[in-house]
Amino acid sequence: MNEPTPLPAASPLASQGGRPVRAEFLPIAVPDMGARERELVLQALDSGWITTGPRTFELAKRVAEIANAKHAVVVNSATGGLHLTLEALGIGPGDEVITTPYTFVATVNVIEHVRARPVLVDVEPDTLCIDPRQVEAAITPRTKVILSVDYAGHPCDHDALRALAAGRGIRLVDDAAHSLGAASRGRPIGSAALADATTFSFYATKNLTTGEGGAVVTDDEALAARIQLLSLHGMNRDAWKRYGAGGSWFYEVTAPGWKYNLSDLLAAIGVAQLERFEESQKRRFEIVARYAAGFAGLREVRLPRTRPGMTHAWHLYAIALELERLRIDRARFIEELRAENIGTSVHFIPIHFHPHFRDSLGHAPGSFPVAEDAYARAITLPLFPRMTDRDVDDVVTAVSRIAAAFRA
Ligand SMILES: *Cc1c(COP(=O)(O)O)cnc(C)c1O
Repeated sequence: MNEPTPLPAASPLASQGGRPVRAEFLPIAVPDMGARERELVLQALDSGWITTGPRTFELAKRVAEIANAKHAVVVNSATGGLHLTLEALGIGPGDEVITTPYTFVATVNVIEHVRARPVLVDVEPDTLCIDPRQVEAAITPRTKVILSVDYAGHPCDHDALRALAAGRGIRLVDDAAHSLGAASRGRPIGSAALADATTFSFYATKNLTTGEGGAVVTDDEALAARIQLLSLHGMNRDAWKRYGAGGSWFYEVTAPGWKYNLSDLLAAIGVAQLERFEESQKRRFEIVARYAAGFAGLREVRLPRTRPGMTHAWHLYAIALELERLRIDRARFIEELRAENIGTSVHFIPIHFHPHFRDSLGHAPGSFPVAEDAYARAITLPLFPRMTDRDVDDVVTAVSRIAAAFRA
């Protein structure tokens, strides 16, 4: 173990004129781009083929392997992947999609994109994933999809959701933007046992990134083919099949599709990232363990926990403040961390707090007490594979000093 940053215990906080815990700002996430990413991107650049092609198909194959799925369609965002999944499942006006208020807006926006109705239900207090009992209470004859979100990388209770969907014609779609590499009782996120279709995000901050990108995995061949078709104008031949050696110029449009395909330049980054995915996940686990050890005994913060049998992907490390033990609120705690040069974020602002959804869905504050309570307490701390032990210790020092200074 490195020595923690030497600061006299009684020295003032940075906000009170003291020296910040860190001289340099520590961001919440920094993408891990190495020599291999550079090499594969340059290869793609020099190859004469820069749009969707061999690297994209290779990325799809590897994502399907990690996710234990038969088919993967790589697209240019998880949002696009979710949209196409709902579209390909035939979800439309009059249909209801049950999802969580404790997510990124993309999860709910896509439901509106297909003109279906988002039905929000509260989350479970320990995982902040959708609560199956609340889902059950919200099911109506119009319910077509349960759209779960593996919050921070912790798998939802997919078995309970599967039991609810069984026999009712309800499809399970998992927004796995946080949970590539996670597993539920040994079954990787993406497995058909857990969801009918699963979407991953390769956005810049996610635990595997292509800068921008995403994928949908499923064991349903027809669904995968439909999503693939809709991802490129509804054309039944992509450019590789038309312009590649042995390609043919002819194609037909069988549906008015979208333009959600990924460039090989970006897919090349993903292929490089996947080569050391296991290693980078291992580093995430080490950092989480170091946080847990560092925060042990600090009664002002509640640490994220993993349910037995679950493998966490640790995309995010979100703590909950024990506000009853503090004289400051979460916003002030974040300001204090900022002054100490520690970057943070909040995951998430509940969906119904955004003006659009407040108005369109009509939920007053108080509608989802678990999500709202989580929001009031939540701070996401830095977590990325390139963090050093010293970085982790700085975060622990800063959080501990602020907690001590504002203890109730
Ligand atoms: C990041 C994120 C998305 C959107 O991912 P993009 O690839 O940026 O479209 C969707 N859902 C959740 C829960 C996310 O965190």
